Amino acid sequence: MDFREYQQRAMVTAIYPEGARIIYPALGLANEAGEVLGKIKKVIRDRGGDFGDPEVAAAIGAELGDVLWYVAALCRDLGLEMDALARQNVAKLAGRAARGALQGEGDAR
Ligand SMILES: [Mg+2]
Repeated sequence: MDFREYQQRAMVTAIYPEGARIIYPALGLANEAGEVLGKIKKVIRDRGGDFGDPEVAAAIGAELGDVLWYVAALCRDLGLEMDALARQNVAKLAGRAARGALQGEGDAR
């Protein structure tokens, strides 16, 4: 499955009020990112920071999947295609790597 297909399939379950477009997935994205961080925090608290258990990784992965869904929804609401964003992002980072600018600050590196 590529991002184009994922975005199409994920949006079958994107059911929220028309008037809440953009803000609804933006809030969901922040919430799910928090759930990722919460699971990571608990590994530090309960497992001494050992991420070696595949079940732990799978649980974090499930939350990352939720993040992905909200990214898809936010992209849809903004008229953006995830597939294009993925390609643009890889190209941007490759350009930075080629210029030796992966480190540092600023969006326009
Ligand atoms: Mg979740």
